[in-house]
This record gives sequence, structure tokens and C-alpha cells, in this order.
Amino acid sequence: MTPRAAHSFATRAVHAGRDDFAELGVHAAPIDLSTTYPAVDCAGEAARIEEFASGAQPAGSPIYARLHNPTVARFESALAELEGAESAVAFASGMAAMSACLLATAAAGKRHVVAVRPLYGGSDHLLGSGLLGTEVTWAEPKGVAAEIRPDTGLVIVESPANPTLTELDLAALADDCGQVPLLVDNTFATPVLQRPLGLGALVVLHSATKFLGGHGDVLGGVVACGEDFARGLRQIRVATGGVLHPLAGYLLLRGLATLPVRVRAAQASAHELALRLSAHPKIAAVHYPGLAVDRPGQMDGGGALVAFEVDGDAHEVVAAVELITPAVSLGSVDTLIQHPASLTHRVVRAADREAGGIGENLLRVSVGLEDVEDLWSDLSRALDLA
Ligand SMILES: *Cc1c(COP(=O)(O)O)cnc(C)c1O
Repeated sequence: MTPRAAHSFATRAVHAGRDDFAELGVHAAPIDLSTTYPAVDCAGEAARIEEFASGAQPAGSPIYARLHNPTVARFESALAELEGAESAVAFASGMAAMSACLLATAAAGKRHVVAVRPLYGGSDHLLGSGLLGTEVTWAEPKGVAAEIRPDTGLVIVESPANPTLTELDLAALADDCGQVPLLVDNTFATPVLQRPLGLGALVVLHSATKFLGGHGDVLGGVVACGEDFARGLRQIRVATGGVLHPLAGYLLLRGLATLPVRVRAAQASAHELALRLSAHPKIAAVHYPGLAVDRPGQMDGGGALVAFEVDGDAHEVVAAVELITPAVSLGSVDTLIQHPASLTHRVVRAADREAGGIGENLLRVSVGLEDVEDLWSDLSRALDLA
């Protein structure tokens, strides 16, 4: 444990991954762009190559950039600290991270996954299509235990879920999973608002593209977990090459420093927008965890996303906003609006979309850091026009 263990989350977000700065005499993280490294002692390197291939992280030269990168490793250790995990493994995108979790589990002989809908459209598609040779059983949250088989390697959930913002009771789910690792996609809550490992989950996944990067300019994914699971993930990463670029690692580490401030500011505006939307005549329903009455109580606030159903044509609302950007993705400094049935969840079968509450009149807003009054003027004007 570092002395930082006594510090608050916000302090650790600023200092994690930077322990050696004073010793190095630097104030920002060095970016190592090498693809290869001098390897003079061939016999020694041969042994280290074998260690890297088994998912370990031997000290010394990375040998080759697909095996290890020190800039990316800083982001990994910082994220692990913030999620309360032993280890973290970063990937080129959130979907590369999800793929590695499935491949590592399947490689250990467990090809069956139990998952709870809704999930991010890409995750739903990856599981449902069986593209990686896995098999999925979709379950209701209370039905997870009944679907677990001897070959079940993971239970996959999202809370709050994309795009309906449905919250799940993660502690209860972790209990129901027994020996099977519960994987929680924590992209929407971030470790600022929710730390699933403390509730019994064994694996936490992020699309780092969203809040962790926070500025809409970096694609990445990361998994926080125990070192055993992390080794399996690194084995897959070395073998398949879905590595995070060091520049992305640098930007993600930088993003973590402001994560608590950004998430809490955006959450305050999102809560206010959710309240005002609830009172708007053109709104049929608002889905915002912070307004729900019966909550699991694991998330510190309602988060920075709001979903709502329009009494009218949702496409017209998207076309009418001027300040808010009509775009997929989330967690950036600017506010984004999108129509899940057309975009993020298009790859989910129509019947499954409808059953999951992803209807034609549902819109999802990722609230950014603009002044909430400006956001409300834009959104309410767009609703009035639609
Ligand atoms: C965006 C997203 C993903 C996929 O991440 P990419 O970085 O786009 O590959 C996974 N889960 C959730 C909840 C997401 O929002």
C-alpha cells in the first residue's frame, strides 16, 4: 500500500500512476513511443519473452511494444488504484477489452456466458453473434443463478445500463454468481460514483473512450481485476495485439486527474436536467437513476447521463438542438444527444431492442460541462419545436 491509501479519492485521482515523477525529475508522464528496444543479452531476453507470453510483467526492457509499454502501464496502475483492484490491463478500445475477457475465459475452457440486458449495443452484438465462439444465455437479474452451468465463465452486466440507465443490485448479483466471476461494465458510473469490486464483482470493464479520457479524443478500454485474471488478459493481448497506443495511455492518465471534478459537475447538471425534463409536457418518461425511488444505493448520485422518451418525433429533437452535439459516445466535456434505436443499439435485433425498453421515442443525453441553463435553453427549445 502506498501512503496514498489514506488519501481521498480525488487526491489519488491526481497522484496515482505518478509515484516516480520526483525521482525522474519530471512533472508530466514521459511518453515512450518505441516499438522495439535494444536486446543485447539474447538468452536473458528469451526467458523474458516467455514470461511476457504467459501474461507476466517481468522487470526491465519491454523488448517489443506489443508486450509492454511503460506509459500505458502508468495508466493501468492508476486505474487499478482508483477501482480498488490488484491489477488493470488496457486495450485499444472498450470492445477489445471485452473481447479479451471473453477470449481469456474461453481459453480456460469456459465458453458460456450469462448476461443481463440491456448492454451496450456492441457488447450485445458480440455476445449474441457468438463471433468469438462463446455462447450466451440472457437472463433477468433475479434469474442469473439459475442459468449458471459448469462451463459458465463469466456473468456480464452493466449498471447503470446503456441506454436505459437501469441500475442493478451488484452485491446481490455477485452473491448469485457464486464461483463465477461477475464482470461489471462500469463505463457509465466511473469509479468516482461506483466501485463494483467492493461489492463483490471480480472484473470491472471500462470503455476508457468515455469518461476516463473525458475529452472525446482518445479511444481505449481497460479491465480492472485480480492479478490472476489480469495474466489471462495480458496473454490474450500479447497474442492478439489489441494494445493501447502510448499516446492514448498518456491522455487517459491525464484524464484521470480531472475525472472526479468532471463527473461530479456533469452529474449535478444531469440531475437538474432530469428534473426539468420530468416537468416538460413533451416528455413521456424520464430515465435517470437519481430520480428513481427504489435504488440499490451503491452509486453516489444519478450519474451524468439522462434518457427520456419523447411524446412526439425523437428524430426532430436531435435535428433541432444547436448547442448540444448530435453524436454517439458519451463522457466528453461537451453534451451529446443520440437516438439509441438508430445508432448505439442498431446492431441489437429489433425485437430485443423493444423488449429492453429501447424504443423509437427514446433519446439519450450525455451531459457535459456547459452551463446547465444554456443546456436547458437548447434542449427545451428543441423539444418545443419537435
Ligand atoms: C462505448 C461503450 C463500450 C465500447 O467501448 P469502445 O471504446 O467504443 O470500444 C462498451 N461499454 C459501454 C457501456 C460503452 O458505452
